Amino acid sequence: MSTTGGSGTWVEGDCGQSTQLVHAGVNPDPTTGAILTPIVQATTFVQESIDLYLSKGYSYSRTANPTVRALENKIAEIEHAAGATCFSTGMAATVTVMTAFMRAGDHCVITNCSYGGTNRVARKMFMGLGMEFSFVDFTDLAEIEGAIKPNTKLIFSETPANPTLTLTDLQGVSAIAKKHNIVHCCDTTFATPIITLALDHGVDIAMHSTTKYYDGHNMTVGGVIACKTAEHDAEIKFFQNMHGNVMSPMVAFLTLQATKTMKLRVLQQSQTAQKVAEFLEAHEKVEICRYPGLESFPKAQKAIADKQHKNNVHGGMLWFEVKGGTDAGRRLMDSVQRPWSLCENLGATESIITCPSVMTHANMEKEDRLKVGITDGFVRVSCGIEDTEDLIRALKVALDNL
Ligand SMILES: *Cc1c(COP(=O)(O)O)cnc(C)c1O
Repeated sequence: MSTTGGSGTWVEGDCGQSTQLVHAGVNPDPTTGAILTPIVQATTFVQESIDLYLSKGYSYSRTANPTVRALENKIAEIEHAAGATCFSTGMAATVTVMTAFMRAGDHCVITNCSYGGTNRVARKMFMGLGMEFSFVDFTDLAEIEGAIKPNTKLIFSETPANPTLTLTDLQGVSAIAKKHNIVHCCDTTFATPIITLALDHGVDIAMHSTTKYYDGHNMTVGGVIACKTAEHDAEIKFFQNMHGNVMSPMVAFLTLQATKTMKLRVLQQSQTAQKVAEFLEAHEKVEICRYPGLESFPKAQKAIADKQHKNNVHGGMLWFEVKGGTDAGRRLMDSVQRPWSLCENLGATESIITCPSVMTHANMEKEDRLKVGITDGFVRVSCGIEDTEDLIRALKVALDNL
């Protein structure tokens, strides 16, 4: 909490997450008192003298930028990390983790159930560069440990997984990682820090696509890596400075503002998702609906949700399939009306319906996709912050008309 009055410097301390979301990392501008961090749109920073090089902390905006740094400091505090690094996109963040911790000949145990781009970059880029990946069912801890080899350097998990919502027991996986001295990185984009603080469950590195819930307004693309240790944080920053895949000051500014309302948004979106899931599950045209808040969620998976999800909520994402398979599913997605939008992206104020087989996961091998249950009629739902009744009414019309 601030120790020097309302204009003092924010000091990390004992306060709740809602206060952190608003204030962490942000101080009144020292020259003007502006309450919001300015957009420092500058390539370079003038030095007082050669001896005082870097005395103000900045040299060149690929290496560090004050607006981006404010967001990084905010996220580090929110995520209980030693440091955070923001990226141009979520994929840039994922690629940087893989390049920072693996070399040709090294091996990664990765979930077989992930964002499509994660699967693609492993298969189409890193495997071509001589790195090995084992795609494993992360609901089975024995299978994860069994896949570890002497050259395993990284375990890469994702919870809840996009788009199936498969949950990973982070403490279980982290214990295996520690035992074998392997870095555990988790993509916690779907969980958000409101629902799961991955680093509190033993994970070494938490990754988010900030495009999704951190932004939450369909405004920007971005990513972040939050590290438990300062050593890992320095390693990530070293690699980013070489790659140059940085977040822009404008995107950082927008994300700084949007982050303040993340808890309000995620709690509301979760409440809506619970009601939408209950409606869908009860509808006669719906074959299956999956949401961690439903009693029908697989038992072992439900136990993970109970242990790992805070605030008694399970997020704004769910999925379902309609009776009649692919054709009916596609007709539904084509016909559902406002407030729903048919598009990619998720986690935003606008409610979104997505067809993963054609959109977000089209880049996965069909075999990989079907193995984890992403059929052609699979409907992914991201609940926004509109009135729940309006969202349910539009879905009901589309379903009744099938
Ligand atoms: C969207 C997404 C990504 C990729 O992020 P971009 O910002 O689109 O590059 C990675 N992981 C998950 C879980 C996602 O939903």
